[in-house]
Amino acid sequence: MKFGTKAIHAGVEPDPTTGAIMTPIYQTSTYVQRSPGDHKGYEYSRTHNPTRTQLQNALAALENGTHGLCFSSGMAAVDAIIKMLKPGDEVISTNDLYGGSYRIFTKVFQNYGIKFHFTDMGDLKNIEALVNENTKMLWVETPTNPLLNIIDIKGCADIAKKHNLLVVADNTFATPYLQTPLDLGADIVMHSLTKYMGGHSDVVMGAVIVNDDDLAQQLAFIQNSCGATPGPQDCFLVLRGLKTLHLRMERHCQNGRQVAEFLKNHPKIEKVYWPGFAEHANHEIAKKQMRDFGGMVSFVLKGDKVEDAVRVLEKFEFFTLAESLGGVESLCGHPASMTHASIPREERLKAGLSDSLIRLSVGVEDIEDLLADLEQAIG
Ligand SMILES: *Cc1c(COP(=O)(O)O)cnc(C)c1O
Repeated sequence: MKFGTKAIHAGVEPDPTTGAIMTPIYQTSTYVQRSPGDHKGYEYSRTHNPTRTQLQNALAALENGTHGLCFSSGMAAVDAIIKMLKPGDEVISTNDLYGGSYRIFTKVFQNYGIKFHFTDMGDLKNIEALVNENTKMLWVETPTNPLLNIIDIKGCADIAKKHNLLVVADNTFATPYLQTPLDLGADIVMHSLTKYMGGHSDVVMGAVIVNDDDLAQQLAFIQNSCGATPGPQDCFLVLRGLKTLHLRMERHCQNGRQVAEFLKNHPKIEKVYWPGFAEHANHEIAKKQMRDFGGMVSFVLKGDKVEDAVRVLEKFEFFTLAESLGGVESLCGHPASMTHASIPREERLKAGLSDSLIRLSVGVEDIEDLLADLEQAIG
């Protein structure tokens, strides 16, 4: 089955009782048992819910995995994955990680005795240098947020195999339309479904996808024990969003490309971050592991002044200033004061995230309107 057909059909069955083609919202907390243990696989909705099951199956199919698990947010998915570790274990991750992931690693799990190392994972040599006998996991995010760096997933998986480590790939920015990390040797795929997967800025949810029964069991145990599961209405919304994932992503990529090229040729722009440029440091890896380059574009104005960036952000008409990304509408953000404010300034600057950087989530509007908006705001 090709991707678009999968997005619409895979993992989803018509409702067995009515034949409803769309998965019903099973708004129930519990299920009747005729005698103790005599049930249809559903006992309590924290553990299983039919709407969630359909979504989990659809996600597993899209990522070429065998098991999908949904969580009440992307951060709850991150939380569940790290809870597989024990005090003394170490994780290596990238130094321009999503701010929320950086925060839960350093401000929550570090207190439980898990150690995190942050390095430029764009260069695989940096990873090898940090591996020791306590290392248990490589946490990969690619493309990264907001600098759009690219990390070689297969290269990470090769290192992990040598040292018996788990590779986790946060696939939020790429989605399985652009890359399927399990096919490249990753063990665990993590998503904020809040972004492109849901796609309509109307739901907060996360997911984990694996292709190993033992990992699935461990994660399902944590999902049920800790209880950060989404409700059936939210699962329905994401199921609905997934059906147009391929159409939306195709347009996000087209618009992203045009915006990146427009900015690159603009006299007031200093630098544009987009993995589709031939001069991007890991463009060749991006070409190898991704089908296209996505709808996220970041840029810095000439002079790198915060007040200039703020003026542009205020003047945008269609690029709405808001946290989040990946919805049908175009958004803009100022990472230094918004999504990445939880990362200390020196750390941010070291990673190359300058104070005036503007991040765009290019939506699926008509490109002429988006380019006109950029022109009038940057002007
Ligand atoms: C948004 C995001 C998350 C966190 O997901 P939530 O649904 O907001 O909890 C994690 N990783 C990346 C890359 C994100 O963009």
